[in-house]
Amino acid sequence: MITCKTLEELKKMRRSSLIVAEVLEEVQRMVAVGVKTRDLDAVAEEMIVKAGAKPAFKGYNGFPATLCTSINDQIVHGIPGNYRLNAGDILSIDCGVCCDGYFGDSAVTVPVGEISDNLRELLRVTEEALYRGIEQVLVGNRVSDISAAVQTHVESHGFSLVREFVGHGIGRQLHEEPQVPNFGPPGRGPKLVEGMVLAIEPMVNTGSPAARTLADGWTAVTVDGGYSAHFEHSVAVTAEGPWILSRKN
Ligand code: MG
Ligand code: MG
Repeated sequence: MITCKTLEELKKMRRSSLIVAEVLEEVQRMVAVGVKTRDLDAVAEEMIVKAGAKPAFKGYNGFPATLCTSINDQIVHGIPGNYRLNAGDILSIDCGVCCDGYFGDSAVTVPVGEISDNLRELLRVTEEALYRGIEQVLVGNRVSDISAAVQTHVESHGFSLVREFVGHGIGRQLHEEPQVPNFGPPGRGPKLVEGMVLAIEPMVNTGSPAARTLADGWTAVTVDGGYSAHFEHSVAVTAEGPWILSRKN
């Protein structure tokens, strides 16, 4: 079942999503050569608790941390730990927050020091693809209009889209219906109506789209060792167009 949110509920989701935005901004500021991913996680957790909210990922199906930190060939769900960031790495940071019963979810991928031209292009195209998807968040469109816009942009630049993980509805639960795939033909799936909130999250690989999960049971990596980027926003459907809840401005 797809739940539509009232304006009051959207305001609560806005609050959660803005906490996520603040955390991602602060953690991005900390990213530097030699920093451990667990140090980023500790700051994120402290900020969320101070804001009177809860980390949404910690304890979710047993996930052990506040952030997902996914490096280089890691697609999503990397576990923060003792890894020290190296120059040339790309780091995806995914954060979820629950405040007053409502969730927010957003992710960015950032460079560590100087990165190659190809990786800069990967990050740019993945973020652009997210925005191509967001542009389709219009009353009367269908879910797969988002999917098709994301896919067209990514594949026209020679990158590939992960199939195993998809975007999702969000609200009183971190993951709600509908699924929001990052691929597929337009004009399919549920119609978008006012009050729906979707977490749109392209995961884009330099090589093959194939993914596998590491022995830790969480970390998803590319099968061919290619690099992977991930950007995500929580976006509400409104009569005035897309409302990006997890962006500050
Ligand atoms: Mg996320
Ligand atoms: Mg998500």
